[in-house]
Amino acid sequence: MLEREAAKYPFLRDAAKLVDALNLQLDDLADPQYAKVLDRAAERVVQAIEDGAVDDSLDDYMTELLSFPVAVMFTSVKGEPFMSRRYALAEAVRVYFLLQDEERQKLAQMARDDFDWDLRDSGETYDSVLYDFSLYFYDYLRSSSSFHEDKWKLVNRIVKSGYVLLTQREVARLIQGEVETLIKEQVSKPIKITLPEPFQLRLDRVSKVFEENRKRLGGEDLPSDVINEAFPPCIRYCMEGLLAGRRASHMERFALTSFLVTVGMPLDSLVDLYTSVSDFDPAMTQYQVEHIAGVRGNRTKYTPPLCDTLRTHGICRNKDDICERIKHPLTYYRAKARRLAYQKPQPPPQPSNTPALSQ
Ligand code: SF4
Repeated sequence: MLEREAAKYPFLRDAAKLVDALNLQLDDLADPQYAKVLDRAAERVVQAIEDGAVDDSLDDYMTELLSFPVAVMFTSVKGEPFMSRRYALAEAVRVYFLLQDEERQKLAQMARDDFDWDLRDSGETYDSVLYDFSLYFYDYLRSSSSFHEDKWKLVNRIVKSGYVLLTQREVARLIQGEVETLIKEQVSKPIKITLPEPFQLRLDRVSKVFEENRKRLGGEDLPSDVINEAFPPCIRYCMEGLLAGRRASHMERFALTSFLVTVGMPLDSLVDLYTSVSDFDPAMTQYQVEHIAGVRGNRTKYTPPLCDTLRTHGICRNKDDICERIKHPLTYYRAKARRLAYQKPQPPPQPSNTPALSQ
């Protein structure tokens, strides 16, 4: 594999082999000659935290390649699930943009070699749309299982002899999902090691940025996984309205989107949610969701409005006992998540190995 390719897609097997072949140890990378690698690794994680996307800096291929496993290590050592999810998504978003302009051959090779897809060249045109590829329906169903938008449903696809026709952009989107899952697996195993000082200094900087942004990102004190059962009644009302096809007001969409972004729902799932249940324009929906998530525009990540505001807009519905003692939907979410965790059946106590005091 060429260094340039490995730098663009450092999570691929061949890229990892290239890194392994260098046989670099932590202490080697602590040498000042690798300072650029550590700086870029810290920058990758910082960009994920601040911008929600890692840029594709390709000035120095080897620095770019080596900085990926170091960034993964920083994220794993930090062990913050919210940060890990954000980092995996930010790297996957970078790949999505790269793949849209990638040579078809490269895209196909990645899909086949690294994700074991049965992907073929197609080049067929239907209704003026050029379908560059066709993917075996089983791989298609597996890789699109988390997409809710109507256009991804198999019944809405053109299928020929068991193969689903796809544009290059659609294949890029499916691969984005695979990359996010792959990186999430790598960073979601917290590791405990003592880092050499040059690493620790960069990780301290990353931690500082994370702490500074934690509140803005809304990850503070929130459960690490999205818990649908803990959604407050107002958010359920917005969501059920959307699913039922009711025309959502601007405030409903803002409240729902800002809430789901804050509790950690991936942006693509959110876009898929909107576009699967309505005739929203996918590009416009993506733009609006990214704007509220702080990925675009003024880079401000919005949190949901106060209960008072939602009440004024007629969105505060079906209040329950928790609503009586909170002023913000996120406070409801935290309280309900704690209650659910408390109510979860506990495993029966195991027999103690400690000898009894009197026998
Ligand atoms: S009180 Fe607040 S959390 Fe409860 S339904 Fe109304 S707006 Fe939502």
